[in-house]
Amino acid sequence: SAQSDSKFGLHSEGQVAPSSASGESNWLRPFQWDEEVEKLRKNLFGLPSFRTHQREIINSVLSGRDVFVIMPSGGGKSLCYQLPAVLRPGVSLVISPLLSLIQDQVMGLKAMGISASMLTQWGHDFRPDYRHLGILKTQFPRVPLVVLTATATERVQADVREMLNMPRCEKFISSVNRPNLFYEVREKKSNANAMMDDIANLIQEIGPGKESGIIYCFSRRECEQIAVELVQRGITAAYYHADMEPEERMRAHTRWISNKVQVIVGTVAFGMGINKPDVRFVIHHTISKSVESYYQESGRAGRDGLPSRCVLFYRCADLPRQSSMVFAEAAGLHNLYSMIRFCQSRRACQRAAIFEHFGENKQDCHGMCDNCADPRPVVDKDVTEHARALLRVVEEINRKDQKVTMLQLVDQWKRQPGDSGRLAPELTKEDTERVVTQLLLSGYLKEEFGHTAYATNAYLALGPLSKAILDGHRFVSLEVFVGGAASRWQDNAAKDRLNLMGSGMTAEQTVVVSKLDDLRQRLAAEHG
Ligand code: ADP
Ligand code: ZN
Repeated sequence: SAQSDSKFGLHSEGQVAPSSASGESNWLRPFQWDEEVEKLRKNLFGLPSFRTHQREIINSVLSGRDVFVIMPSGGGKSLCYQLPAVLRPGVSLVISPLLSLIQDQVMGLKAMGISASMLTQWGHDFRPDYRHLGILKTQFPRVPLVVLTATATERVQADVREMLNMPRCEKFISSVNRPNLFYEVREKKSNANAMMDDIANLIQEIGPGKESGIIYCFSRRECEQIAVELVQRGITAAYYHADMEPEERMRAHTRWISNKVQVIVGTVAFGMGINKPDVRFVIHHTISKSVESYYQESGRAGRDGLPSRCVLFYRCADLPRQSSMVFAEAAGLHNLYSMIRFCQSRRACQRAAIFEHFGENKQDCHGMCDNCADPRPVVDKDVTEHARALLRVVEEINRKDQKVTMLQLVDQWKRQPGDSGRLAPELTKEDTERVVTQLLLSGYLKEEFGHTAYATNAYLALGPLSKAILDGHRFVSLEVFVGGAASRWQDNAAKDRLNLMGSGMTAEQTVVVSKLDDLRQRLAAEHG
């Protein structure tokens, strides 16, 4: 079994248990392998220094401990197992969920002159197979096990520890915060052509012809269409989705990785395991299905730590497209509605929504999301009358045993004569959609799903709390900006923040600069 132990490379012999278990910093004290570790970092991996937690993790792995690592995308998880694997004799076994990730790793290791090869037996879905990995600890109890992931709630951590038979382990949890990412939600125009112009302009502004980016779309057809439209607007683009021949997909991927095309347009299937460090923007053409998905998809930007942009184009009309996909999943609608709340709010910090989702304490956003950066005041516009009128329309339709989609409801209501019709001109179509969405999020409306031979449709019905509005006991409000064209302001805000970061400063330094700037402005306002 000494033979099999060595397959995993990380021998337990010669392990040095820390003298006291007084927390992470203990893993930074001197170790006998320090010099070797430093040499490998510099000469083999070519890295100027360690990043947060890397050294502690390496020390605890080399000490023979089981380790649980949560580190955001781009944090540098690979080094945490690659370096100990090189330092110790024997073989390290790396278990990875995706073929593209595995290929990437093997290629990267070989390029450094580290011998590596791959076994690819996984089934269609890696999750059930992962359940069998508990056998590793039973078979090789003295070989340290390292679990690395970008995100895991407390609950998932406990499940994984149980599944892998590692009840006790050292934990290293980094914040989910990605301080170099600027998050923005922009209005998605209903006119497809105008929408494409917006995207093309944004890309030109971020970096004409060079800065690499990803656009996420809802459907395969959209991917192809958008790629063509971008090319027509002078932007090099390729598309990537599950309906393509593997070679064709590989070609698109390679052209993008090697900067032959600037933009790759993909469904969410694209990107799991994408290891391109210099992605400067991730644009969402359609909302994600949850805050978690959005965090992961948008997080493919800026893995090299340089300032990068995450721009989500939001339109309420995209909600039923997503909800009819996710409604059958446990918590599918709940998660989607959290995502919609994230998009609807003109006030709430977008980073805060991410911290909240992962159960992490809120940290300062430093103006790196458009809600935090926007100086325009937001007011709560009372839309109770509109809400009531809309609910009456739904009530009437339901009474006739008919069904209505969100878009039909908005159309019907805008066309209605009489009381509610008189209210309608005040609100644009988009505003009306936002009111309907607000009603859905608050439980005054609910979604119901109907199936045809070809699709699942989402319809609206009165929600459990609708009576309170119809009876006049509740108010409904919508957050709206006071004055100013949103998009013009947005362009400048993002540019200012990112230019500051682009000037070679770290995220932390730009924070200091922008704080000083705020202070200067406040003082100027107070003292003339
Ligand atoms: P993760 O797996 O956590 O997403 P990776 O291990 O792929 O991250 O590393 C992301 C990028 O950061 C890679 O380009 C890697 O070379 C780089 N990197 C890792 N550690 C360091 C470090 N200590 N200093 C500088 N760059 C690093
Ligand atoms: Zn913010």
